Amino acid sequence: MATVETARGPVTIEALGRTLMHEHVFIVHPEINQNYDVGFDEEREVAKAVERMNELKAAGIDSIVDLTVIGLGRFIPRIARVAAQTELNIVVATGVYTFDEVPHHHLFNDPDSMAELFCRDIDEGILGTSNVRAGILKCATDVKGVMPGVEKVLRAVARAHRRTGIPISTHTDADTRRGLEQQQIFREEGVDLSRVVIGHSGDSFDFDYLEQLLAAGSFLGMDRFGLNWPIKFDQRIEVVVELCRRGYVDQMVLSHDTSCYIDQMAPALVAKLNARGWNYTHISNDVIPALLERGVTQDQIDTMLVTNPAKVLTRTAGY
Ligand SMILES: [Zn+2]
Repeated sequence: MATVETARGPVTIEALGRTLMHEHVFIVHPEINQNYDVGFDEEREVAKAVERMNELKAAGIDSIVDLTVIGLGRFIPRIARVAAQTELNIVVATGVYTFDEVPHHHLFNDPDSMAELFCRDIDEGILGTSNVRAGILKCATDVKGVMPGVEKVLRAVARAHRRTGIPISTHTDADTRRGLEQQQIFREEGVDLSRVVIGHSGDSFDFDYLEQLLAAGSFLGMDRFGLNWPIKFDQRIEVVVELCRRGYVDQMVLSHDTSCYIDQMAPALVAKLNARGWNYTHISNDVIPALLERGVTQDQIDTMLVTNPAKVLTRTAGY
């Protein structure tokens, strides 16, 4: 039976259930945190995260994909501690998150040596854990576009994908149509684009752009529900409703892109955003009812929350 790797070890595809495909648990800069007291208390934050994960499970979600990779403060032993104390499955990622330069460790190395590290996470297990493995690859392209460092990461991710058969999920700036450039590089690397989730596509209502991504076969991440930037709640809902109407329900996944702890904004701002809907239970409490009210069927919601994530996360053979 097919299995998916999680921070608690492999689970069956069926056990994934309702899955949020783009979330984070802790976003904390390790070097800043080691050198300054920025208010990250390990024990307190782990305990809070366990509470959040349990609330999410109680709200009907069974799994999240934590796309926190190098560049965002990935530390999987901490995720494994959380995972050990909740029934919610946490799929962890490998990859690099940068909008321009690569981490300087990789500065003089080629994409293949970066891909080598990703493959270790996927096939040998992640350092400091008792054999937790990565279930997905992550990379990013933002407003600046395919900077040389970004291109190196995209190619490294593509090559690790082809070697291992685990899927790819991306960050994009949707406004500048960055997903199309990602697809082009993946195409050059021989990637099957149906194994790719183009993230933050739900930030856009440029249907021409979205339909180009869909025509190439990729999944769209409608994955920033609760964040009223750059578009608002009603618009985010409307894009999903319209794409369902146009027959693309089989190519969308849902998520919030939220976190239990994030050090990239002032705590007061994070608290305000969380209170306004940017939290883990917003899809369960607000998004699903709004979609149903606008004519999306329960079947279609199950497709986006259960069937599509299972399809994406099922590991294929390398090629
Ligand atoms: Zn994210």
